[in-house]
Amino acid sequence: MIISMRPHATKEQIDHVCERIREFGYKVHSIQGEERVVIGVVGVGDVTACLESLEATPGVESAVRISAPYKFVSREFKNDHSVLRINGNEIGGDEFVVMAGPCSVESERQIMETAEGVAEAGAKMLRGGAFKPRTSPYDFQGLEVEGLKLLSKAKEATGLGIVTEIMSDRDVDLVAEYADVMQVGARNMQNFALLKSLGGCGRPVLLKRGMSSTIKELLMSAEYVVAHGNPNVVLCERGIRTFETATRNTCDIAAVPVLNELTHLPVVLDPSHATGKRSLVPALARAAVAIGADGLLLEVHPCPEKAFSDGAQSLNLEEFRGMMKMLEPYISLWKETRAAAAVPAV
Ligand code: PEP
Ligand code: MN
Repeated sequence: MIISMRPHATKEQIDHVCERIREFGYKVHSIQGEERVVIGVVGVGDVTACLESLEATPGVESAVRISAPYKFVSREFKNDHSVLRINGNEIGGDEFVVMAGPCSVESERQIMETAEGVAEAGAKMLRGGAFKPRTSPYDFQGLEVEGLKLLSKAKEATGLGIVTEIMSDRDVDLVAEYADVMQVGARNMQNFALLKSLGGCGRPVLLKRGMSSTIKELLMSAEYVVAHGNPNVVLCERGIRTFETATRNTCDIAAVPVLNELTHLPVVLDPSHATGKRSLVPALARAAVAIGADGLLLEVHPCPEKAFSDGAQSLNLEEFRGMMKMLEPYISLWKETRAAAAVPAV
């Protein structure tokens, strides 16, 4: 159940509602939204009696039963597609947002050149890892704080918002100082301590699907962040592990419309990690536009052959410009469809 309080409900009314819910044997998760307090009700009890009682309680605007295990992120809770405002851009609205940049921040020259190049070609946000989750402990682990500072410099120079990965709940405050969007990587999708602490980080979260995670598990992870106080979550399909070896991962392209049916949260696609091969990135990017994603997260490097990580799947700046040009007519159609339907494009 989700209980939405009226915008001007008093603290006494809210406390009283929480008390009533507990009397029915349920647990309470209350979230202070921009306009109103929303209370998530979880546990086992007499749903019908509880709903009836709450509907008649002062200060309550609506009380609805949510059958999905993920409550706040479900379409049952909120039918309208969520629009997140990030650094002057909107994700989930009427702009197709491209977030591009290197896998890892490597040097001032590399990040500045990339930022300027991707901004000029039409990207709205700069991605780049300062804390890198690497399979081998001997591989480059990221420039850490130094990398975050370089991302800030690139933001100052170009105005691009910054998307960067957070790997540990210990670093949340540090990364939030520099990031406009906190990226949770595939390997940390079920790092529940991290997800909980991102509930209070004050920044939108870009949650990547774990490489062996179901769509339901992805949504449950998003629910952690929202239930802990942060409604601003973007989901990212980045490919999953299958028996196929021709690509680094298998892009579950159907995850985009599936998620659009199940959740109101914006959904973006990462064609770089989904394929592992730069030659395949533009085709998948086009598919993302066509299938109604809200944007792209992809890897671009001024000199992919020299990249410290993921060079094989990174476009160079010229290839990125070419891809953006190729996408133009598809994005125009995307905008028309979105404006006409005011729902995700199909
Ligand atoms: C990345 O975006 O560079 C990254 C590590 O991605 P993923 O978590 O999807 O593997
Ligand atoms: Mn990468």
